[in-house]
Amino acid sequence: MDRDLGNNNVEMLCKTCSKQLDKIENGGSFIGKKDILKSPKKVLTANIPVKMDDGSTEIFPAFRIQYNDARGPTKGGIRFHHTVSQTEVEKMAFLMSIKCAVVDIPFGGGKGGVKADASKLSETEKERLSRSYIKEFHEFIGPEKDIPAPDINTNEQVMGWMMDEYQKINGDYEPGIITGKPLSLGGSKGRSYATSLGGSIVLEQYLEKENKGKVSVAVQGFGNVGSYLAKFLHEKGHKVVAVSDAKGGIYDSNGIDITELFEKYGKDGDLTIMDGVEEITNKDLLELDVDVLVPAAIEDQITTDNVEDIKADIILEMANGPTTPEADEVLEQDYTTVIPDILANAGGVTVSYFEWLQNLSHEYWTENEVNKKLEKYMKKAFKQVIEISEERGVSLRKAAYITGIKRVLEAEKMRGNL
Ligand code: NAD
Repeated sequence: MDRDLGNNNVEMLCKTCSKQLDKIENGGSFIGKKDILKSPKKVLTANIPVKMDDGSTEIFPAFRIQYNDARGPTKGGIRFHHTVSQTEVEKMAFLMSIKCAVVDIPFGGGKGGVKADASKLSETEKERLSRSYIKEFHEFIGPEKDIPAPDINTNEQVMGWMMDEYQKINGDYEPGIITGKPLSLGGSKGRSYATSLGGSIVLEQYLEKENKGKVSVAVQGFGNVGSYLAKFLHEKGHKVVAVSDAKGGIYDSNGIDITELFEKYGKDGDLTIMDGVEEITNKDLLELDVDVLVPAAIEDQITTDNVEDIKADIILEMANGPTTPEADEVLEQDYTTVIPDILANAGGVTVSYFEWLQNLSHEYWTENEVNKKLEKYMKKAFKQVIEISEERGVSLRKAAYITGIKRVLEAEKMRGNL
């Protein structure tokens, strides 16, 4: 399907984005030009049959959406989750297009997803699903076309199976078709924690700019992103007082020893294994009186239902789309600083870009080189977003949208599409 989703879908697909877009440059140079961003360039859907371990066959709805490729091949993760829908994947693919432009890497934006309850899949079922996904969409994927990566419930092992399946179909060794791979298959050093390191760099930059010292932090989600983020902030001397996963959270007003939790949690995935902590719900965690709240789980966590109860001064959006547009307006009116997802969590795709560069050149970098380059990209993006925010007196989210959208539209213009 090409650029034709119908108006209802367009409105639904990017509530966040269209609202932001409409407000960003009223009367300015984007008017009439931003329509090119209101729908994805290409939407691929499939129903994938997978043989289950008990011999039955299950059908999984799957999506790959290439939203905008004006600045380069489309780039974005694949998630396995029972809530996945075309609308959700489109919204995420839009965010990826803008995010890659915010950090100024030469990629467009895409996203993939399979509607599947990953917790009910065995490893062998997960492998068959991963391979079937590539069988279905391989023609549309490639190092210069569309480059997937991990997301919720897909990890480096899944990327390894997908890369292998692609090679089985196409014959060539092409590690650059996918990022977030294991090191042994051409993955990049530092990729596993890059999103979190990027987020911690941006937060530190903001705190420094505001002359703030050490802060108290609550982190929702103790998966790949949340756990490393908590660890980095803990190591930098900030007080992480609460963390949670899908089962609930833990709280300690004196601060949780995240280094200890990181090791213990890895073994059996139980946050309550820590001594002397209070058990709390995810709702409690979001409403804690902390300096910094970090949603690092799933989207739509801060909504009109709970926004009035949010007490944090700073929200570092490590998840994609954790704040609804309506709640975002309330936060802005309350002068809560929101460091938006398209800046805060862009470290992951930045190191994915480094991984792709290493794959194309067959030359591999040290962990220190990767982290230093990531720091440079994140600091530059932060500085540019802050400058626009201050110049125009707009929130960091609007400043990030202005930065990213301008770059995408400039590329469309130079292609002759505007
Ligand atoms: P993950 O699957 O490793 O972790 C997700 C965490 O969220 C888990 O702890 C899970 O228990 C928790 N969770 C799930 N449902 C929840 C709920 N209803 N309430 C509270 N907690 C819940 O995924 P991840 O890779 O850490 O990704 C987390 C978020 O960060 C997602 O929004 C993802 O799109 C975004 N993100 C990830 C990356 C990356 O590099 N992995 C990059 C950019 C953005």
